[in-house]
Amino acid sequence: MGDPKGFLTIKRQESGYRRVEERVNDYQEVERKLPDDARKLQAARCMDCGVPFCHWACPVGNIMPEWQNDIFNGDWKAAHDNLQETNNFPEFTGRVCPAPCEPACVLAINDDAVTIRQNELAVIEKAFSLGYVVPKPPAKRSGKSVAVIGSGPAGLACADLLNKAGHTVVLYESSDGVGGYLRYGIPDFKLNKNFIDRRVNVLVEEGLIIKTGVTVGKDVLLSDIRRESDAVCICIGAREPRDLSIEGRSLKGIHFALEYLIQQNRVVKGDIIAEQELIRAYDKNVVVIGGGDTGSDCVGTANRQGARSITQLELLPMPPKHRTDNEPWPLWPKLLKISSSHEEGCTRIWNVSTKKFSGGRGTVKKISTVAVEWSAGKDGKPLIAEKPGSGFELDAELVLIAMGFVHPVHAGLVADLGCGLDERGNIRIDGNSMTSVKGVFSAGDSSRGASLVVYAIQDGRVAARAINDYLLK
Ligand SMILES: Cc1cc2nc3c(=O)[nH]c(=O)nc-3n(C[C@H](O)[C@H](O)[C@H](O)COP(=O)(O)OP(=O)(O)OC[C@H]3O[C@@H](n4cnc5c(N)ncnc54)[C@H](O)[C@@H]3O)c2cc1C
Ligand code: SF4
Repeated sequence: MGDPKGFLTIKRQESGYRRVEERVNDYQEVERKLPDDARKLQAARCMDCGVPFCHWACPVGNIMPEWQNDIFNGDWKAAHDNLQETNNFPEFTGRVCPAPCEPACVLAINDDAVTIRQNELAVIEKAFSLGYVVPKPPAKRSGKSVAVIGSGPAGLACADLLNKAGHTVVLYESSDGVGGYLRYGIPDFKLNKNFIDRRVNVLVEEGLIIKTGVTVGKDVLLSDIRRESDAVCICIGAREPRDLSIEGRSLKGIHFALEYLIQQNRVVKGDIIAEQELIRAYDKNVVVIGGGDTGSDCVGTANRQGARSITQLELLPMPPKHRTDNEPWPLWPKLLKISSSHEEGCTRIWNVSTKKFSGGRGTVKKISTVAVEWSAGKDGKPLIAEKPGSGFELDAELVLIAMGFVHPVHAGLVADLGCGLDERGNIRIDGNSMTSVKGVFSAGDSSRGASLVVYAIQDGRVAARAINDYLLK
């Protein structure tokens, strides 16, 4: 514990964002960094609690009190060594994790939590700049080989640990770039893609073999990969989007959020997109259907593209601004989130259901909606009812469907494997991350269902340990 009175004398200080007027003109990261002195003070707020609930609430189990102390003492190497024990990629979580650790911080009972996520980012960025992150190839190879399919955070974490354990690991990725949604999905203004390349370079120097542009089940048969490998881990994400099958859905100008976000990632990267395929928000009334994080990313992108207006619709009621008695500390409360993209401008409407798209000459022009009311049913399950006479129309020349993902894509690899699925259509795994097919494991969104980067990393780590045990049996 760096400063025994730090939690009493120092207030939480956010890194903050660049000014809205500046940041909407570019795709650089919006979040700023605090100078080292200010960061040390933020770490000094940690109380080094006897039972650190932040550690309990962090899916990868980061040991916060220890590295807060190291930050306070300016020992960035010790902080990094500790953090790297539990988290392969703090530079990703430090940027995009919603930080379930923070509402569980003991300080958060009656004050503002320690800035754990921002402190985590400071540690890893300092470690890279001071040269502490260097390739550490395994001293010897085991003679065993593993194929990891999918290079999102789950596949990367799993492949990293297995490679470090001395196994020969081949990471297959269907896209032209490594990272899954980190690279193509999450906007550049939240996560600059150079940080993925920086980490991947280290992994490759450690001996990880990466094959991009290879879709397993299409370009290469899974059966061939299984024959050549001692174990396989499927980390293909949950990429089947939830659709809205209502009248007018086939009109031009209605897209899944990911089509839009991936295209913008590619534009920022410098890819040339054919004119007729460009999805542009410029001078359009944009309606985003879905009030979650993906929808918020669409809002931020549409603002940067110069949309005339942006409206984000959500079927559910507006969440509370403060913790309620139903979600007491240290639980993760479902609170109203105002992202940096929302701050940049958008109208948010809750309790609204989309009924119909209409247009002219085959292109969407309007969206018809109706207000809904929620109540508790007899069995306690929420009931939804449309409010009579509450229908209204919105102008919409671009509609982005951001209603989440239902499960992994089944066609191709999953169907070929014929593995068991759970009731939601995700790949079923046992307590050792193994699918119903011996020697084939799965991790991340493909088995958990659409979730978060930090859970994908943790699932990849858990699977790696199980695969290592399986190989060494
Ligand atoms: C727009 C958007 C924004 C998000 N923002 C956040 C955020 O701010 N914070 C957060 O914590 N989480 C966020 N998430 C969720 C997070 O990105 C995912 O939970 C996480 O990336 C899942 O990791 P994964 O490795 O399981 O799968 P993915 O990241 O989906 O990666 C799966 C990879 O497998 C590849 N693949 C699929 N099939 C094959 C095949 N047959 N052969 C070879 N390769 C294949 C895919 O190309 C992909 O690269 C966001 C998600 C989206 C869509
Ligand atoms: S990974 Fe997420 S939950 Fe864990 S310490 Fe970092 S910000 Fe908190």
